[in-house]
Amino acid sequence: MKAGLKPQVTIGKLLRPRSANPGRTTELAVCAAWMFVLCGSATSAPPLAVAPAQAQAAAVPSTPHTTATRPAVLVYVTARLGEVATCGCAPERGGLGRQATYVAQLGKHADLGYVEAGDTFFHNWRVQPAEAPRLVERARRLTELLASQGLLATAVGECDLAVGLRVLEMLAKDARFPVLGANLITPEGRRPFPATAVVTIGGLHVGLVGLISDRLGVTTTHSDLVVEPPAKRLAQVLQSFSPRPDRIVVLAHMSPAEAEELARAVPGADLAVLGHGNGRLPVPRLVGSTLLVGSEPKGQELGEVDLIRLPSERQKSHRHVSLPMSLREDPAVAAKVKALAPPPARP
Ligand SMILES: [Zn+2]
Repeated sequence: MKAGLKPQVTIGKLLRPRSANPGRTTELAVCAAWMFVLCGSATSAPPLAVAPAQAQAAAVPSTPHTTATRPAVLVYVTARLGEVATCGCAPERGGLGRQATYVAQLGKHADLGYVEAGDTFFHNWRVQPAEAPRLVERARRLTELLASQGLLATAVGECDLAVGLRVLEMLAKDARFPVLGANLITPEGRRPFPATAVVTIGGLHVGLVGLISDRLGVTTTHSDLVVEPPAKRLAQVLQSFSPRPDRIVVLAHMSPAEAEELARAVPGADLAVLGHGNGRLPVPRLVGSTLLVGSEPKGQELGEVDLIRLPSERQKSHRHVSLPMSLREDPAVAAKVKALAPPPARP
């Protein structure tokens, strides 16, 4: 997706989200629209205060097994919980305006894709009924904002179901990115969310799988959903990739310990991005062939994985990037963030 704009920012492209049921495969071709936003903002973005080690990591050349000439970087956020202005924590950090500024800078020398792994839209696993209409409208506008920032996919988290299955289905239907839930099924046997999506990041085809823990009480709080064992479903879904994508990434809405169990039980994925709670791993955890990674929640920081380096230099392919308040916000994105009401305080 070479735009021919200067500076060039090449963002991942969603090829097709896929249901676990081949007969229900949905063909979509949605080009991420944020490249234009970022290209427009990048010219005015100030130089970033990137630590030397980070700058070095971002500038590594591609390895011989690919013809790519630029790094292919997957950017992720763990458990956004609806936060887009700042993290709402101490010290304040994060926010989509700062994320946009950083990503625009990164995109000058890398091809990018951006994912989350659930707990994207709402701040808690339940909301007060009186607040629901306002929060649903906020979530709807948040999907538009995240799509404009290039979000390629997220997974279902228990907080995304805070207002019920039907509302999340509605949000997912209208979103310009898939909400993946490979191991969610209704008692009647309907799968409300696609299991996988295939995206291109640089020259790489990347298969994304969304899985949620079966220990988060979703079946208890939602009688219209059954959570299947993640390992069983992952084994099935990995078989459904044909041909196998260049990289397989699990958007793992579960604790680090559960993700480790999953990777041990079902080898085959290259990367698992954690999405639940405080899933930050200070150092990526390698389990078999799968690298587990997670960042601070609420958008305080980004995680980055160089997908070209991933198979051969696993831990070295990853880094965390903080988004301090000193990083200037992209003005256009900041204005859109300002238009969103803040989420209510967490109980
Ligand atoms: Zn969660």
